[in-house]
Amino acid sequence: MEYIEGKAGGTGCFFCASPELPHSAEDLILHRDRLLVVLMNRFPYANGHLLVAPARHVADIGELSSEEGNALAAMLTRCTAILRRQLQPDGFNLGLNLGEVAGAGIASHLHWHIVPRWHGDHNFLTVLAEVRTIPEHINRTFARLLPEFQAQ
Ligand SMILES: [Zn+2]
Repeated sequence: MEYIEGKAGGTGCFFCASPELPHSAEDLILHRDRLLVVLMNRFPYANGHLLVAPARHVADIGELSSEEGNALAAMLTRCTAILRRQLQPDGFNLGLNLGEVAGAGIASHLHWHIVPRWHGDHNFLTVLAEVRTIPEHINRTFARLLPEFQAQ
């Protein structure tokens, strides 16, 4: 029932609108199962910026089942391991914004940001250069990351 309601009422929700596919280059879906979805951010803060969300349309961590919570925690760990192998960042920002006031772009559907960081990446010109080449980066990075998510 929640699933049906989530779909019906989720026309404005980016996560619920993304297709029910295990992965999709077109939609930047790296992984989807019955509990969660991992997408690449189409408007990334940095190359390899991932979004991890429960499959279910819930707004708060308090609404997650323990099964969902455990799966999400394991996936966040797995994502950082994959990004470390493929992109060799120097660190990460893992972010969870609860509510619009906290800066959540899609406040109605809980999601974590995983942003790889490199020494010096805050440099203004570096950021600017990165932004200009990002469309190319996304497809190339997606192709690199997908096999990692498909390997169990
Ligand atoms: Zn949703």
